[in-house]
Amino acid sequence: MDIIKLSDVSFSYDGKHNALNHLDLTVGQGERVAVLGPNGAGKSTLFQLFNGLLLPQGGRVVVDSLPVVRENFIELRRRVGMVFQDSDDQLFNATVYREVAYGLVNMKIAGEELDNTVRWALNIVGMESYIHRNPFNLSGGEKKRIALASVIAMKPKVLVLDEPFNALDPRSASHLVHMLNDINKTLGITLIFTLHDMDIVPLLADKVYLMDKGEVVLGGNLSEFFNQK
Ligand code: ADP
Ligand code: ADP
Repeated sequence: MDIIKLSDVSFSYDGKHNALNHLDLTVGQGERVAVLGPNGAGKSTLFQLFNGLLLPQGGRVVVDSLPVVRENFIELRRRVGMVFQDSDDQLFNATVYREVAYGLVNMKIAGEELDNTVRWALNIVGMESYIHRNPFNLSGGEKKRIALASVIAMKPKVLVLDEPFNALDPRSASHLVHMLNDINKTLGITLIFTLHDMDIVPLLADKVYLMDKGEVVLGGNLSEFFNQK
């Protein structure tokens, strides 16, 4: 089953040049998908269509059977979790506990359920012992894990990660690869991510899409992709 389907999708910021140009793309439920391509290819524009941060100007985007339209914003945001490139943009609470609890509190979750869910999410990223720490004082790798925990706590169906390995040292990057594979396998969460480090692609992706100038120029299963290249 496809959890994400884009059909003939176009998007332009300025009405002249297409950031996305008649794009077709599908992602299967539970797949791990790498989106590659040079700067300006349209990757982050694409990602912002998944949860309605941007709306398609032409064509159709469907996520988990919901069309990406304004009326579905709240539901889409619940189903699609986003981990941004810079964790500092995503962390704004005084303790790790409050950081991970933030989205849940907004969903009116409280008491024991809140506590248990926060601990559950922190446990997945191996950060339970950091629960009372201030997220601003953590290392880059640790911040990334807290940002990931706050998204996982919302139990999304799709996890979107923009350059999650940027600025991580090799040891943190390798931890993150293991964590993401675990999250995919045990929770069944679909993963969609961009990255530059080609060595990581075979460790984390089932499927690869290569974008350029707002179009998918190459795509397929991992083995097909590396044979085409
Ligand atoms: P990528 O994530 O692959 O680097 P983007 O989706 O950011 O690509 O950009 C696709 C195209 O849209 C580029 O030509 C870029 O300059 C343009 N673009 C991206 N964001 C904006 C914006 N906020 N305003 C105007 N143009 C933008
Ligand atoms: P870890 O200890 O999890 O392996 P590192 O301390 O090696 O992570 O940091 C990974 C990256 O994050 C480095 O590029 C580093 O410059 C950056 N970084 C580390 N600590 C901070 C911080 N407090 N604020 C912003 N960036 C940081």
